[in-house]
Amino acid sequence: MTTESDSTGSTDVLDRELQELLENEVTDDGDHDKFSHYVQKEKILESAVTGKPVRALCGKKWTPNSNPDRYPICPTCHEIYERLRDE
Ligand SMILES: [Zn+2]
Repeated sequence: MTTESDSTGSTDVLDRELQELLENEVTDDGDHDKFSHYVQKEKILESAVTGKPVRALCGKKWTPNSNPDRYPICPTCHEIYERLRDE
């Protein structure tokens, strides 16, 4: 019994949570380039235009690459995303 809701339209809560997350400055030059992070789609589009890194869900600055399938999903981003989606 799952409800399919892939369309945009019920992301108010998610967006608000994201704002709070994105306001937390995290400086980490670790291995974030080895993962595909969750980033707001609009931010990815913005990055594609500006070439600047964006803030991922986990708080890391990351430049989306053109073939994210090469990298595993960032576990931290995935955990945050799942948590946000459940609420
Ligand atoms: Zn991440």
